[in-house]
Amino acid sequence: MKLDAKVLRYMSSEEFRVLTAVEMGSKNHEIVPTPLIAQIAGLRHGGSHKILGELAKKNLISRVKNAEYDGYRLTYGGYDYLSLKTFVKRSSIYSVGNQIGVGKEADIYIVADENENQHVLKIHRLGRISFRAIKSKRDYLQKRKSASWMYMSRLASIKEFSFMKILHENGFPVPKPIDNSRHCLVMEFIDAYPLLAQCGLIHGDFNEFNILVKENGDPILIDFPQMVSISHPNAEWYFNRDVECIRTFFRRKYNYESMLYPKFKLDVNREFDLDVQVTASGFTKQYQKELETYQNEICKSLDNYDSDDSMVKMSFVV
Ligand code: ADP
Ligand code: MG
Repeated sequence: MKLDAKVLRYMSSEEFRVLTAVEMGSKNHEIVPTPLIAQIAGLRHGGSHKILGELAKKNLISRVKNAEYDGYRLTYGGYDYLSLKTFVKRSSIYSVGNQIGVGKEADIYIVADENENQHVLKIHRLGRISFRAIKSKRDYLQKRKSASWMYMSRLASIKEFSFMKILHENGFPVPKPIDNSRHCLVMEFIDAYPLLAQCGLIHGDFNEFNILVKENGDPILIDFPQMVSISHPNAEWYFNRDVECIRTFFRRKYNYESMLYPKFKLDVNREFDLDVQVTASGFTKQYQKELETYQNEICKSLDNYDSDDSMVKMSFVV
């Protein structure tokens, strides 16, 4: 899924109304019936018909005919469009530049505001990876509908933004969060190279790619969708996994093995109530539960993945 910022410039207000109507209809309908779209958009059935065709041609929505009715669903392209439009309206973004990173389930772009300050746009794309070698027929990852992938991407983005905000407000070395809409967030651009540092929180995906070091040596942490509270029932497990990740990095890369490394019971600083602050800021316990269920599903299918069976196949669900 390529981000197409060009399309932003060529959209009529009626097209935007219809696209918004499809998004609103998606809240209750996996495939939004055509008459409902017309009704939400406040356009005659005939009027919205042509516009729906145009939007489908631009790949912002796609037509789905099922046994019961004709309708449309939002694509990731359409979802990107709506987020970008929101960012532009709030002056968080003025232009979109190069892609600087492709993660497992996210795309990273350089963007700029009106004053040409450079920022980073992170677009969460959960469900992008499908594993060819998933053996279990019971696996329901494949069956998950695109609408709920988008929902999960939105949760991941809300989570990352909420954590970044709280961490930043509490003086932790993380990028400054700027804006969040749907599955996208805008944050400070860190002009640095990936390396390594240490911090006492449970990051959940603590590796050399998620710790950037500025030229002056200051470490900056990024990438928080796996972050958990220290009162999480599996906190110690997550903590040990993060520590192990960094120890492995030093062992492999520098043949260095220290007996001095953080231990959960001794070193976790329980003075902080960051988890409580995050919940208060909008990333609720319910969201955490839903996202965690998804992340566990991914883990399970990774466990089932047969590593002998060549490469992981990347494919776009939408
Ligand atoms: P993923 O969840 O896909 O791993 P990340 O948030 O770690 O996504 O971003 C992927 C890569 O993009 C990072 O390893 C880093 O090189 C780059 N990147 C992400 N955020 C920033 C930022 N704020 N400033 C500079 N580079 C960044
Ligand atoms: Mg990362």
